[in-house]
Amino acid sequence: MFLNGKSALVTGSTSGIGLAMARALAGEGANVMLNGFGDAGEIERLRSEIEGGSNVRVAYSGADLTKPDQIASMMSEAADAFGAVDILVNNAGMQHVAPVDQFPLEKWDLLIALNLSAVFHTTRLALPAMKARGWGRIINTASAHSLVASPNKAPYVAAKHGVAGLTKAVALETATSGVTVNCISPGYVWTPLVENQIPDTMKARGLTREQVMNDVLLSAQPTKKFVTVDQVAALALFLCRDEAAAITGANLSMDGGWTAQ
Ligand code: NAD
Repeated sequence: MFLNGKSALVTGSTSGIGLAMARALAGEGANVMLNGFGDAGEIERLRSEIEGGSNVRVAYSGADLTKPDQIASMMSEAADAFGAVDILVNNAGMQHVAPVDQFPLEKWDLLIALNLSAVFHTTRLALPAMKARGWGRIINTASAHSLVASPNKAPYVAAKHGVAGLTKAVALETATSGVTVNCISPGYVWTPLVENQIPDTMKARGLTREQVMNDVLLSAQPTKKFVTVDQVAALALFLCRDEAAAITGANLSMDGGWTAQ
């Protein structure tokens, strides 16, 4: 297993894409710290299932990543548990759908804090140890919305474009250090994040559930298929390989052709 002896922190890994990434990294021998919200019993069930299935150590932090002090505590906990964070996956994110002139102010602040500022905080705190060890992988889950926009998603689009820019900036700063920094930009992946925005999109655009699925979500995706969490996790895993050492500062699309249009 090529990640034996390495440790990973995957934010937003109690669900969806992050959970698939955590499973994939543990499956290749990495110790993993999970993070995210959810039912305590269910999270513990996931934690012990991943730990038992892969014979690695799996820890959990319930840090709220909109709070920089909680991010700092989580980073210390991960370093204490595993020695260092070799692989940082910034994946936690949320969405809210509304026209920009009606966007609740607190939702703007929340989306920017979680989808963009948290990536800055984890990155700045993880980098010194990665540089000292001469190896590191930072993988940010951006989005097709890091490259193109959709209506009614102003802060999400702004934050994801920001993540793509932050990825490039940090990649240049770390280029000679053995650390690579990349983002993966999925199109629509079938996860709770997508499912939960269907009612708001129905309301904002006056559409039925089927119309939102086919005419709004998959209309942008030429393959007419949702991306799967396992496909995204497989790309993240590849970025951890030595063969991926020359990939840095990249924004890797996995969007069924969406941004090729
Ligand atoms: P999801 O809702 O299934 O998972 C989101 C995770 O983030 C959960 O573990 C949740 O508990 C956690 N989280 C939410 N708020 C948090 C907070 N304040 N602090 C810590 N953790 C928090 O969503 P997903 O679809 O798996 O999304 C994961 C990432 O992928 C996000 O960054 C999202 O923007 C991005 N993305 C998703 C899609 C898609 O179609 N699903 C497409 C492109 C990009």
